[in-house]
Amino acid sequence: MYWDRKTETISRDKLEELQLRRLKETVAKAADSPYYNALGLKDYRITTLSDIEKLPFTTKQDLREAYPYGMVCVPKQKLVRLHSSSGTTGTPTVVFHTIGDIDTWTDLVARCLYMIGVRKGDIFQNMIGYGLFTGGLGLHYGAELLGCLTIPTGPGNTKRQLRFMRDFEVSVVHVIPSYALHLADTAESLGVVPKRDLPRFRIAILGAEPHSEKTRKKVENFFGIRAFNSYGLAEMNGPGVAFECQEKQGMHIWEDAYLVEVINPHTLAHVKPGEIGELVLTTLTREGMPIIRYRTRDLTALMSGECACGRTHHRIKRISGRSDDMLIIKGVNIFPMQVEQVLMGKEGVGRNYQIILESRGHNDHMIVRVELDSNMFVGDLNKLEELKNRIIRDLRDEILITPEVELCEVGSLPISGGKAVRVVDAREI
Ligand code: AMP
Ligand code: ZN
Repeated sequence: MYWDRKTETISRDKLEELQLRRLKETVAKAADSPYYNALGLKDYRITTLSDIEKLPFTTKQDLREAYPYGMVCVPKQKLVRLHSSSGTTGTPTVVFHTIGDIDTWTDLVARCLYMIGVRKGDIFQNMIGYGLFTGGLGLHYGAELLGCLTIPTGPGNTKRQLRFMRDFEVSVVHVIPSYALHLADTAESLGVVPKRDLPRFRIAILGAEPHSEKTRKKVENFFGIRAFNSYGLAEMNGPGVAFECQEKQGMHIWEDAYLVEVINPHTLAHVKPGEIGELVLTTLTREGMPIIRYRTRDLTALMSGECACGRTHHRIKRISGRSDDMLIIKGVNIFPMQVEQVLMGKEGVGRNYQIILESRGHNDHMIVRVELDSNMFVGDLNKLEELKNRIIRDLRDEILITPEVELCEVGSLPISGGKAVRVVDAREI
């Protein structure tokens, strides 16, 4: 039932002892990186776990400022892998791993997979992006360690996905939730009958973007399987940070590897247990690039009480939103500011713009409405078409997805209390 019984069911006392030891080691190690050295991390004394509150927070912006190697605390020859957060262009946030880091990450992922019932002999199709994004390789290594035949299809090419699932008798898939719904629709339209055509299929791991219970149920009911929520982020390795167990009452967050805090994003103080706040994580096992008090911007709450599965690590609730304006569109992280930068650099573009998000079928659809200077609407219509196409192309290069663009007259887009209404998120999740 457990991949690592001792660690997964460790008593809270022993867990806290382990965390304190690892926190001390982590702070000492991190202090060797140029970034944390400049913050004077060496001078902080850690004697109890609550001393964490004295340490500085780390943000995405700090990671950008430390680019390229500023947060690395080991000689570069010890690094074997680089990953990056999805959707970031401009100065990316990058994370480096040593062999030891890859091993501990892989073990955490294997722990998650085992917890939901994946075993040696399972056939695992990974429909999540490989490359800089952590979802592909992260799950891949964990599944191989477990002894699964692992098929790295990555996302897209839905007909082939379904064909592989049928022909190779796939039993487990990893997929972003919106794509899981699309997979179900495509299967239905192709006349795939899951019971008949995919008889071994039993588990889906839904990760990388928020989704509702309704979405999970749709996926489960169509395929006749069980689906589990997987949470992670590149800064904390990627997948394997928090995962649902078979009870599906919140996600266990692996506290031997991450020190967990939940804060009020405005006052930065800890919220009471059970209250929603921003998740803040400190790596406890990372060698190459430890990160102290990382502000994930993800909103959640720590759940109280013991889990029926016997694991002692705390659970967090389904992520309920963000404390910043980051949008996750088709699984890609996008900040409205990226759109603004593309638009505002263009001649003829006015001051106001709006991003509309809709669901079309099960896909996210993005429309960018932008006001143009009034003189743009007189004269040559071809010029307008050209501008529109240039905006679409430049947005695609910046945010990695292709939006629809509507050119609007000055004053036609809404403002509220003098402020532009930048994002209208009308998606169903
Ligand atoms: P990345 O670093 O590109 O993997 O993106 C990480 C972000 O994706 C997180 O900070 C969350 O905002 C979001 N995310 C990942 N997994 C989930 C999940 N299971 N539920 C909700 N949001 C998620
Ligand atoms: Zn549990």
